[in-house]
Amino acid sequence: MVVSKSADLEGFLIKPVSPSMLFDTTMNVLGQEVYGSRPRMAADAAGAGIGSDLLGKRVLLVEDNQINQEVAVEILKGAGLRVQVASNGSEALSILDTATFDAVLMDLQMPKMDGFEATRRIRTQDRLRDLPIVAMTANAMAGDREECLAAGMNDYVSKPIDPPG
Ligand code: MN
Repeated sequence: MVVSKSADLEGFLIKPVSPSMLFDTTMNVLGQEVYGSRPRMAADAAGAGIGSDLLGKRVLLVEDNQINQEVAVEILKGAGLRVQVASNGSEALSILDTATFDAVLMDLQMPKMDGFEATRRIRTQDRLRDLPIVAMTANAMAGDREECLAAGMNDYVSKPIDPPG
């Protein structure tokens, strides 16, 4: 779901989200990277399994809630992606210093460093300026969406489940 290219944001996920929404949005973001202006149709990806060009793509999941971590990892690994988990924004920045990813799924509310600040810091690095970042949020709050755009996120999805925090 393309929200605003000009704001460098490609979509949002709103909690609570179905596993297929998380899957579809992630695949769309990865597909845009792979296919450029020809986004892969989510139905194709979900129905036929992802193409070999998406298999093994590396996703960094940044999420402080352990249950959400587990659910998202299961969905993403089940789709044939490689997943690494960071528990907050500063941990994500450390990981991004030493490893390369194809996309980031970013929780907004986290201890130590939240998703907004982490995204802003990522975007200050030339090497990471075009890294697809998908916000994961609990609510379809208009303010969240605007702040995600302003921070430089590409897309926005709801979380697989919505426990406190
Ligand atoms: Mn959180």
